[in-house]
Amino acid sequence: MSRYTGIIEAYRNRLPLDLEARAISLGEGRTPLIRLENLPRLESVEADIYVKFEGVNPTGSFKDRGMTVAVTQAVHEGSRAIICASTGNTSAAAAAYAARAGIKAFVLIPEGKIALGKLAQAIVHGATVVQIRGNFDDGMRLVKEVAQTAPVAIVNSINPYRLQGQKTAAFEIVEALGRAPDFHCLPVGNAGNITAHWIGYSECAGLESGACAHFPDSWDFSGFGTQRKRPRMVGYQAAGSAPFLRGGPVHNPETVATAIRIGNPQSWDLAWKVHEESHGWFDELEDAEILATQRLLAEREGVFCEPASASSLAGALRDLKQGKIPAGSTVVCTLTGNGMKDPDVILKNGLTGLVEVDAERGAVERALLERL
Ligand SMILES: *Cc1c(COP(=O)(O)O)cnc(C)c1O
Repeated sequence: MSRYTGIIEAYRNRLPLDLEARAISLGEGRTPLIRLENLPRLESVEADIYVKFEGVNPTGSFKDRGMTVAVTQAVHEGSRAIICASTGNTSAAAAAYAARAGIKAFVLIPEGKIALGKLAQAIVHGATVVQIRGNFDDGMRLVKEVAQTAPVAIVNSINPYRLQGQKTAAFEIVEALGRAPDFHCLPVGNAGNITAHWIGYSECAGLESGACAHFPDSWDFSGFGTQRKRPRMVGYQAAGSAPFLRGGPVHNPETVATAIRIGNPQSWDLAWKVHEESHGWFDELEDAEILATQRLLAEREGVFCEPASASSLAGALRDLKQGKIPAGSTVVCTLTGNGMKDPDVILKNGLTGLVEVDAERGAVERALLERL
């Protein structure tokens, strides 16, 4: 038995980090790839659907994979502080990894539109939380401006080390399935994660990609066999926040899926490259479809993801029904974050399923018998 210690130790030869760089890790990665057993039958779709549940990472989202590498590199370069703009999960991860490293974190969050659990995470880990009267896109612009003069390292996904860490999710999927899936579906906000997965799959296949531009020398083609297949990459956005569907920035993005409430994606060009090279597509979902799928997945498979995450599965199910994804395909959907971060979304319609009775045996038995 050896203790699992996170993605840097697991994939060091595939990451562009100095060998002497001390890994700042919380044991992120190695998340479950869960095969859906009930939903495909219920929804009458014929496919092997897997969900990669990134919600079980240390701070509850895939951002930890990127943050461990970005913070490790920042500390190695001598940074004493990091900064990010965030819809919530980046700030939670930045705060936790900064705490681990013993450096300062500054996080800019949009007023009001952040899930309560994520805000609590940033606070408990001791970050300085700057709430701006604006949205994520305003925050991102301000972070870039401030970092020009202040001695702080940006750890948003424009930091290429973030994508290098996040590509390891694709490695884990190829290892678990023994090959790449036919389709990989993800929610898209800034489009860093869809790009990171494409980089990972390309490295596994030993194929070049224009999306890998930052670290061409970091490639190591050994260890994943000779299989040359890569999946088609499918990105889903919320209809009120869908710049990739509109062909340009959306000025007042709105969606219940706050993690992807982004109107001006930072990895715009890279995402179109992924779209072109993988022969994939982008599509959009209404908030109601996203929430219904979040519920369905929780009720029928026991997996509780946050709203943004459910858009990957909602889109995949719809595309399977419409034949855009052919029957018999192997499909992986990334569930980007944990549903427990955002309980308000579930509880805002009241406590469904809650039964109140007197504290006596007969009353409890009656409550059970009526519902068996
Ligand atoms: C950050 C995030 C996304 C969006 O990822 P991008 O890389 O910005 O496209 C989706 N879902 C959750 C839960 C997130 O935290």
